[in-house]
Amino acid sequence: MPTDELRQDAERFLMNTYARAPISIVRGRGSRVYDLEGREYLDFVAGIAVNTLGYSHPDLVAAIQKQAQHLLHASNLYYTEPQVRLAQALVDHSFAKKVFFCNSGAEANEAAIKLARRYAHEKYGPDRYEIITMLQSFHGRTMATLTATGQEKVQKGFEPLLAGFTYVPFNDLPAVEKALTSHTAAVMLEPVQGEGGVHVADRAYLKGLRELCQARDVLLMFDEIQTGMGRTGTLFAYEQLGVQPDVMTLAKGLGGGVPIGACLATDEAAAVFTPSTHASTFGGNPLACAAALAVLRVLLEGRILEQSRRMGDYLVKGLLDCKDRLPIIKDVRGLGLLLGMELAIDGRPVVTDCLARGLLINCTMERVLRFVPPLIITQREIDRLLDTLSQVLSKRV
Ligand SMILES: *Cc1c(COP(=O)(O)O)cnc(C)c1O
Repeated sequence: MPTDELRQDAERFLMNTYARAPISIVRGRGSRVYDLEGREYLDFVAGIAVNTLGYSHPDLVAAIQKQAQHLLHASNLYYTEPQVRLAQALVDHSFAKKVFFCNSGAEANEAAIKLARRYAHEKYGPDRYEIITMLQSFHGRTMATLTATGQEKVQKGFEPLLAGFTYVPFNDLPAVEKALTSHTAAVMLEPVQGEGGVHVADRAYLKGLRELCQARDVLLMFDEIQTGMGRTGTLFAYEQLGVQPDVMTLAKGLGGGVPIGACLATDEAAAVFTPSTHASTFGGNPLACAAALAVLRVLLEGRILEQSRRMGDYLVKGLLDCKDRLPIIKDVRGLGLLLGMELAIDGRPVVTDCLARGLLINCTMERVLRFVPPLIITQREIDRLLDTLSQVLSKRV
């Protein structure tokens, strides 16, 4: 079926929530995907920071096949081994002591928000429920998480929003200090704002937040849905930023392409979730957990993290080099393989031009090109991105 026909059917049958590029992806291998017409694309989107091991990774495919033969789903009314082993592995490699599984980023943040409210409620009573989040943040599209998201465009038309959220500018410690009151239950933020234009939290800021929260028994919650699972060069971004949260959420890269989310917490915070306080039918499903376990093993046992750090450095250098030559590039920033390039112009036509040249990139906040390739990306593939990007941007000076 040609792509045009598929597009027409998509318009007929799908709700119009996405402005899709006019290609249909049918398969992938390594860091490349192929469309319905057989054209190859080098992929610096990776399903929006999801496909960390690229496409068709043999270990991931084998784990999914093997689990599918045994058991797809059983319900959390019973124990299933992949779920327990995945939780154990996440606990072994993070600050956290307990894990709750769900199916997406928004759900992971919903769990974190509920956990924070219940923690504060149990310890300090019903007047302590407020959650401080950051402007330009992104936490999801459910009612609670779009309320947590500090962007009007995400909230517009969905009012009344959930009560109990306050917003402060990112990387502004005095603003948090001012916003903290006896009603504050938690401070929630992304260590690197992804959707909000790739902004990295300062170490001193995070350290300050940690101290403020500690002093008042306010939960510090990191949304590592985009930054987690090796995206920034360490398994979790907080490891290299020098601060441990009380609660952390994961999704995107966790299942390497299979939908799964998780909310991780310290023992003390996690203790407020007891049977029937929170639940999810599919959460921690054996298929998704087997996939996530395979991803985690590859990340921990292989040299991928080390290699991805080198590739991140190499890509930053290349992007900075472009910036020196092309004045329409205003800034290059990010961490590991979560990188952004802010332009003085609309980035969306640049994305379209790159697509026509066989390169997938993404644009966020209108002017920020975002690069989130699979963590297995090679130097030659980065060279090709830099080459294509230079050509496309040079035409627009
Ligand atoms: C993508 C993202 C979410 C939402 O995840 P979904 O799986 O789309 O619900 C939340 N927070 C951050 C930081 C994200 O990048």
